[in-house]
Amino acid sequence: MKRICRRCLAREMPDAEYYRNMYEYIDNLDEDIKAPAGIYEKRLEACKQCDSLLNGMCRVCGCFVEMRAAVMKNGCPAVSRKW
Ligand code: SF4
Repeated sequence: MKRICRRCLAREMPDAEYYRNMYEYIDNLDEDIKAPAGIYEKRLEACKQCDSLLNGMCRVCGCFVEMRAAVMKNGCPAVSRKW
């Protein structure tokens, strides 16, 4: 049975290998569009405090938050944006 983890990022899940393609995508993002590491981590910290995070996914937009946060132009999709 798959474990449900509230407020976990995908990288914190026991089956992190399952998400390897996502991390390769993030690693290979063009530096011109990629969020700097400090901003990226601040965004993820906000997600970890958010009730909409479930199994690494945002329940507002359906994105994996690590992927959404990695692109600088993206923002939190909540009505009251958290980043
Ligand atoms: S609503 Fe915003 S802060 Fe909450 S999980 Fe989604 S992207 Fe992260």
